[in-house]
Amino acid sequence: MARILVVDDSSFQRMMVKNLLIAHGHEPILAENGQVGLERLQEHPDVVLCDLVMPVLDGFQFLETVASHERPVPTVVISADIQASARERCMQLGARGFLNKPVAEDQLLRTLAELIQGGAEA
Ligand SMILES: [Mg+2]
Repeated sequence: MARILVVDDSSFQRMMVKNLLIAHGHEPILAENGQVGLERLQEHPDVVLCDLVMPVLDGFQFLETVASHERPVPTVVISADIQASARERCMQLGARGFLNKPVAEDQLLRTLAELIQGGAEA
């Protein structure tokens, strides 16, 4: 079981990912934009799943802020943006993965499992 912070301005996407996480025994924390996502980091998620295009504070700004932390939480971007430049920028900003919407459930679960195992330092 892991605590997964889901940052996405789409309530539909948040609900879909939330249901998937619960079905696989994880504990979701939800945030509707990057600013709220940064606040929810206080709840110590193990992994963050983050959208790119969001109001108030977008995924790039979220990644930038997380990367400046002493112990950055592993963050995977889930975006409809399929351009290589978006992916590269995210990876440069410290993203641990980049998945395209609509995200395949097995791919998302596999990515999460790798990060949860790899980041088992707590
Ligand atoms: Mg969005």
